[in-house]
Amino acid sequence: MGQEFKSVGIVGGGAAGCLCAYFLVKSGISVTIFDHNPLLITLLPTGGGRCNLAHAEFDFKELAKNYPRGEKFLYSVFSKFSTCDTLSLFKDFGVDTYPQDDGKIFPVSNSAKEVRNAVLSHIKNANFIKETVVEINKIDSGFKLKTGCSDYFFTDIVLAHGGNKRTRLIKGINHNVIPQMPSLVGLNSHIKELSGIVLKSVYSRDCKIEDDLLFTHYGISGPLAYKISSIKAFDKYPYTLTFDLYKEGFNLQDILNSNSHKKFKNILSEFLPHRFCDYILGENKDIKACNVNGKLRDEILNKIHNFQLTILGTNAGEETVSAGGYDLDEINPKNMESKKYPHLFFAGECLNIDGFCGGFNLQNAWSTAFVASQGIINY
Ligand SMILES: Cc1cc2nc3c(=O)[nH]c(=O)nc-3n(C[C@H](O)[C@H](O)[C@H](O)COP(=O)(O)OP(=O)(O)OC[C@H]3O[C@@H](n4cnc5c(N)ncnc54)[C@H](O)[C@@H]3O)c2cc1C
Repeated sequence: MGQEFKSVGIVGGGAAGCLCAYFLVKSGISVTIFDHNPLLITLLPTGGGRCNLAHAEFDFKELAKNYPRGEKFLYSVFSKFSTCDTLSLFKDFGVDTYPQDDGKIFPVSNSAKEVRNAVLSHIKNANFIKETVVEINKIDSGFKLKTGCSDYFFTDIVLAHGGNKRTRLIKGINHNVIPQMPSLVGLNSHIKELSGIVLKSVYSRDCKIEDDLLFTHYGISGPLAYKISSIKAFDKYPYTLTFDLYKEGFNLQDILNSNSHKKFKNILSEFLPHRFCDYILGENKDIKACNVNGKLRDEILNKIHNFQLTILGTNAGEETVSAGGYDLDEINPKNMESKKYPHLFFAGECLNIDGFCGGFNLQNAWSTAFVASQGIINY
């Protein structure tokens, strides 16, 4: 068909769908966004209501390292639209940003609502139909898009319907989907009695990463648990994790010798929280340093440097993103177009791309949305 006239149907009005709509309407292309939810409602809870919209990593290959799935695919995407582009786009929208010490970038207002309103005010020329898309079929003149209420026709389609939690099944498109698994989520473990304890700079021997670990009533959470849930999103449960709780190490025998009159737990609690020391010492918690024999010393050191947790599953409902989604092998990273259906494009979390905590998932949404929009504009 001739491409003088383009009409684009976007499935999903989240970060990816709305940003894609912005670039398209700016080029004078007719755009209709479909979503059963209000536009960009998914942005409101991000970053705890503050919207961590990007990460202060300006080298696109380094940026791509933060995606357990999608790293290589994102090289091309990020070479076209990366952190700098995100920040200058939001500046153009009137949203000033700042980086935290940990690299997370937030709006100066610390308000996801402000970010949402800024994007919405720039896509007023897009049509919005508050319906669920149930089926999409390729026809000679483009695509027939079916909702529960009506049929619509478009020359081009962008699939931007998000991850597992929010996607409503769409029939008709024969694309391989990697089954979606929860990621960036707390992990259920066999130990519940440590709830409330936070251990700083814990090293995961399995994933070779270090961060803070929080024990909860169901298992573990916090930055380290989230990263592990991401790296091991497709592992089968149960599995066992081994942690080094005090990687820099200490000479316990020397410390015991020079504090022989002290209780063992008081010595250990200089390195680890009191309640945690009680837990690993068990019935030996009141023993004096002078009575600690070599066997007990080594047992405790082993518990500290090779602390084991059995992981039973993810904490249902807590996931932030989905690992899995549309198979990247069937999508061209240069324009986000399907290799099977010309004029069908993809953006955001519905792809088999997911990043760690820190603004990486929104960056994926913004970047893939930009590249998909350019793919349509330049067709
Ligand atoms: C609590 C929470 C906090 C987060 N915080 C951050 C953060 O601070 N920084 C960060 O980078 N990432 C964060 N994320 C992840 C980030 O929000 C997502 O990766 C991002 O929103 C994905 O954008 P998207 O447009 O691809 O999908 P979504 O934002 O999920 O939008 C998809 C839209 O498609 C609609 N939809 C689904 N199926 C259909 C259908 N069949 N027909 C019509 N519409 C449909 C849905 O209703 C939804 O509105 C957070 C996620 C959560 C849950």
